[in-house]
Amino acid sequence: AEPDHLREAGITAVLTVDSEEPDFNTGAGVEGVSRSVAVMTAFMMKTDQLTFEKAYENLKTIKPEAKMNEGFEWQLKLYQAMGCEVDTSSAVYKQYRLQKVTEKYPELQNLPQELFAVDPSAITQGLKDGVLYKCRKCRRSLFRSSSILDHNEGSGPIAFAHKRMTPSLMLTTGSQAQCTSYFIEPVQWMESTLLGVMDGQLLCPKCNAKLGSFNWYGEQCSCGRWITPAFQIHKNRVDEMKMLPVWGSQTRKI
Ligand SMILES: [Zn+2]
Ligand SMILES: [Zn+2]
Repeated sequence: AEPDHLREAGITAVLTVDSEEPDFNTGAGVEGVSRSVAVMTAFMMKTDQLTFEKAYENLKTIKPEAKMNEGFEWQLKLYQAMGCEVDTSSAVYKQYRLQKVTEKYPELQNLPQELFAVDPSAITQGLKDGVLYKCRKCRRSLFRSSSILDHNEGSGPIAFAHKRMTPSLMLTTGSQAQCTSYFIEPVQWMESTLLGVMDGQLLCPKCNAKLGSFNWYGEQCSCGRWITPAFQIHKNRVDEMKMLPVWGSQTRKI
């Protein structure tokens, strides 16, 4: 039960992301102490604009017995990476939540529904803007642009040491041009394919065309970056559709 101002600061969200199933091996009491240390550290990071290391160090100066487990340290470094704000719709948060799935649900069964994006084909309203991606073969709506989990492009020549790149090729390779797939969050239509299965193909739910693949332990993007877990859709299997706001079409009629 943290005070409201902590909840507002987004600290509670980052610390509870994987706390539904506490690790009882370490003892609930120890876990509780570790958690309160983490909350206090997060609060100092937020209010005094300190780095994680500095805030934790300051706290240990005041309370030498203060100690938190590695899980909380990891979460606070993520909190720092997000600028001490937690945006649960951000790619970094979604990717983090997905990474926790294999730890929390090693059987990959009974996954929480919030891990799956709403199937865009099931939505008739509320899709008035943004970009929709459809199966190139049968036009079924597959996912929205908000489901894409962007990553920084890996350094191709380093990631693929065996594949030498000439300077001229590097010049023509623009930003994101190396990524031949979209890495997305799981969408509801994938659920039956993903449950209990570590890796496999992603097929169009309507026409069964091969769209891409998934692997809970991660896959490498064509740019060289490892994405864990990975749900990738090949860009050449889908079409991008811009959704126009309703008022836009009305304006054009006038
Ligand atoms: Zn299709
Ligand atoms: Zn990439």
